[in-house]
Amino acid sequence: MSFQVFGIPVSRGVAIGRAVLVASSRVDVAHYFIGAADAEQEYARLVRGRDAVTRELQDLKAELPEDAPHELDALLDVHLLLLNDEALVDAARDWIVDRHYNAEWALSAQLEVLARQFDEMEDDYLRERKADLEQVVERVLAALAAEQNESPSGASAVVARDFAGEDPLLLVAADIAPADMIQFKRSVFQGFITDIGGKTSHTAIVARSMAIPAVVGTREASRLIRQDDWVIIDGDAGTVIVNPSPIVLEEYRFRQRQAELENARLARLRHTPAITMDGQRIELHANIELPGDTVAALASGATGVGLFRSEFLFMNREGDLPSEEEQFAAYKSAVEAMAGLPVTIRTVDIGADKPLDRMSVNELRHEHVLNPAMGLRAIRWSLAEPSMFRQQLRAIYRASAFGKVKLLVPMVAHLGEIRQIQETIKRVKGQLDETGQAYGEVLLGVMVEVPAAAIMLPQLLKHVDFVSIGTNDLIQYTLAIDRADEAVAHLYDPWHPAVLNLLASSIAQARAAGKEVSVCGEMAGDAAFTDLLLAMGLTCFSMHPSQIPSVKQRILRADVPRLSAALPRILESDEPAKAALEALTPQSRLH
Ligand code: PEP
Ligand code: MG
Repeated sequence: MSFQVFGIPVSRGVAIGRAVLVASSRVDVAHYFIGAADAEQEYARLVRGRDAVTRELQDLKAELPEDAPHELDALLDVHLLLLNDEALVDAARDWIVDRHYNAEWALSAQLEVLARQFDEMEDDYLRERKADLEQVVERVLAALAAEQNESPSGASAVVARDFAGEDPLLLVAADIAPADMIQFKRSVFQGFITDIGGKTSHTAIVARSMAIPAVVGTREASRLIRQDDWVIIDGDAGTVIVNPSPIVLEEYRFRQRQAELENARLARLRHTPAITMDGQRIELHANIELPGDTVAALASGATGVGLFRSEFLFMNREGDLPSEEEQFAAYKSAVEAMAGLPVTIRTVDIGADKPLDRMSVNELRHEHVLNPAMGLRAIRWSLAEPSMFRQQLRAIYRASAFGKVKLLVPMVAHLGEIRQIQETIKRVKGQLDETGQAYGEVLLGVMVEVPAAAIMLPQLLKHVDFVSIGTNDLIQYTLAIDRADEAVAHLYDPWHPAVLNLLASSIAQARAAGKEVSVCGEMAGDAAFTDLLLAMGLTCFSMHPSQIPSVKQRILRADVPRLSAALPRILESDEPAKAALEALTPQSRLH
């Protein structure tokens, strides 16, 4: 039966494929295709994993002390039964042989199928056995991982192998953490659907950086969609169509082809400089998460990196945070790749919806906090971990010997923080001088993403070389809306008059002070805001590389004096979105 699920569109385009349901706790299981000829070997690996766990459970049972509660013995029997039921490993064989999934993926896929069946059981006792099944699967996954570690030459790839003729796959999960999302950058999935999240949650941001369609905040997609269902993601409307009719499918395939043609057309703008009709040159920079993203940045025609979210280097580390050398290598590689173009490296913005993994948190003693978005986040975190902060600054400064590096600090709200940053920079430079390590000139900038920073910008500007406006957080903190919470997503409004006024005044004040100002939040990459930002006097935009062509197209058609003349009307309006449409759109385009 065909049905639709509605959510928040976060990454544009249409994706059509089969649903792969992944429990949130298992999104980090390796997903890759195996070669058709390797299927039997892969299945044998899965059977070995199962047999190892069978032996483990049998040993546990045999070693139970005499006085152990009877329930324990019975529980081990249940686990053994579940483990060896043909509905688990035997059935997972089909995913390996027919779909060429690797063993871990096949087992997780089969678990999702069985978990549904358990959920639908009338009998409470039987329904509760789902948790046992999950524990058994965890054990098999651990056994497979252990075997993999013993023979590193084994199939350890986490990366997609091309498998011609495969149906495209769309990932469906209750939630995906940004740390896991980053692993999917090189994965087999061509679209994402999650139950939770908002337009500027970091999961959505990473999906956008991959330029593949995504819908978040659907609330119950992962409950309604079944493993292997055919699904259409409409990343423009935020709609998910499950088991579409042939006519609907054909309509979306047509839209997909149209979008490909449009992208190909826009890609031709790559070498065209972003100059408005009235002759103003606009810098279009790229937001990147990892050094490898510079390839996409250059391919899109970016004239620099406006935001390198360095915190992604700190994720998935299981307690082993990146050393100075490792960070230096990452920053240097980004700087060298950009070959003389500026690279703005932001110091870690850990916290809120980008937590460190549990092991790293324990290592650093920062336990669970009540309200992470308002807690020890970003620069507050860095200043609370001074040796880590110095390490990161040393790595960034050392990378500046290889190109043009700018240092950007997130979430600054106090002048005292700037003083501490400057003192730390002084100390770090002294250390580098002592050890004879080279560094170049590094401009210091802060993000304007807390209303306090926007309101006191004239004071802040006296102490920094440039500012970058983080509209994602500026909206979150101005409107008191958790950007990752779909329950309040309808109130997360970039068109809110308070947001627009803060944005306009920040740009104007930075310009008046003769300091560089850019916008690196999601508004910068949304062509719906390009005219408005140009009207405010913005000349530097930073966004995902995939968004550069459509924003550039708007810039090429823009007449800034005409746009600026309309700005006061928009800022004073009760309905700025409507006013902007009327005031900014040329009459010729309205009719
Ligand atoms: C922002 O807040 O707008 C921003 C660019 O930073 P992040 O999205 O990483 O919080
Ligand atoms: Mg931010």
